[in-house]
Amino acid sequence: MAGIAVEATKQALYYYGPSLLTQQYFEKHKKPPGLLDRLQAAAGPHKTGKDPHIAGRALDIILFAKDPQEKEYADQIVQVFLGLRKKMDFVSVVYNGWEWNGQGVRFPHVDEAHKTHIHIEWGKSGVGIAAFASDLEDALYEAFSGGNLKSGDYAAG
Ligand SMILES: [Zn+2]
Repeated sequence: MAGIAVEATKQALYYYGPSLLTQQYFEKHKKPPGLLDRLQAAAGPHKTGKDPHIAGRALDIILFAKDPQEKEYADQIVQVFLGLRKKMDFVSVVYNGWEWNGQGVRFPHVDEAHKTHIHIEWGKSGVGIAAFASDLEDALYEAFSGGNLKSGDYAAG
């Protein structure tokens, strides 16, 4: 089961992030290929052992860097996370060739996997705290409210 920091971040993104995140996408690596959610806390079947998703300490946010709109959303979300890094207390954020640590320091993290999604991960203590939730919701609302939310969206969940 995912930790409360993971769940709070997932909920905030679902309700206050770009509405695209409430929609599914076509995953060709799924067997058989098919639709999956864009906010993924659970570990996929290919993940084993000490993977932080299995430990409930990580969230994947599917936004393809090859799609300019999705990349823009992802870049904005990364900026929101970095702006709240002291409160969110994550240990890493990875996207599209870069990783940021808990101090907000950026360094290269080049692989193919993280061109399809943002990975955000917490440590064992940080994942148990979600006091940042309302700040995250406010920051996401600020970033994405322009024409993104339809009235009534809040009632959905
Ligand atoms: Zn991940």
